[in-house]
Amino acid sequence: MKKQIVVIGLGRFGSSVCKELHSLGHEIMAIDTNPDKVDALREYASFTVNADATDGNQLKSLGVRNFEHAIVAIGDDLQASVLCTLMLKELGLPKVWVKARDLQHEKILHKVGADRVIQPEKEMGIRVAHHVDSDKIVDYIDLSHDYSIIELVASGKMANKTLVDMNIRKEFNCIVLAIKKHEEVNIAPAIDDMVAQDDVLIVMGHKDDLKRLEEKSL
Ligand code: ADP
Repeated sequence: MKKQIVVIGLGRFGSSVCKELHSLGHEIMAIDTNPDKVDALREYASFTVNADATDGNQLKSLGVRNFEHAIVAIGDDLQASVLCTLMLKELGLPKVWVKARDLQHEKILHKVGADRVIQPEKEMGIRVAHHVDSDKIVDYIDLSHDYSIIELVASGKMANKTLVDMNIRKEFNCIVLAIKKHEEVNIAPAIDDMVAQDDVLIVMGHKDDLKRLEEKSL
């Protein structure tokens, strides 16, 4: 369903979010204080606005309160990012997601009501580290401090076995959410579905259990 989203701050992060949302068919208002950044995004947004997003009156006159979702991607200007977040929450936007530069910034953003705080460099760094750590892990998503979802390439040891044969649920306390065979994705696989070598298993579980599964499967 088409959503109305306001993206504030059109640096590398904000512009990439804006372009991707545009390609997914959503309606975007893109705001930045820098007119060059605004110009560069013209063809990727329904409205592009050269404005200071810490100015509550400007946000009001732009009708930002009618948007359901805001992404605040003001980089290192902590004061501007916090003020803008506060203003958007006061205007009543249900979803305000904000990019933070560090943990301190993240804590302040939560205090002023940010619904989600993203630290792109930190999150990407963790994912890359897991790819480096194991050739078998092709993607990694943190769900919480303890739980994650990994994409694990099935080894020869896993080939021609069902999920029951591998005992993933009981022995490792992990859940296989899907099995990918090339472009085909089997969501919610049955316990007797057969796994072939190089299939990709999307598995959710405790990080320690996922590590055990990964080591056992090599
Ligand atoms: P990135 O690391 O994602 O490239 P940047 O720090 O380069 O982030 O970009 C942040 C963007 O936010 C810049 O384009 C800057 O002009 C914009 N910006 C900073 N303050 C404001 C503000 N008060 N209102 C709107 N945009 C802002």
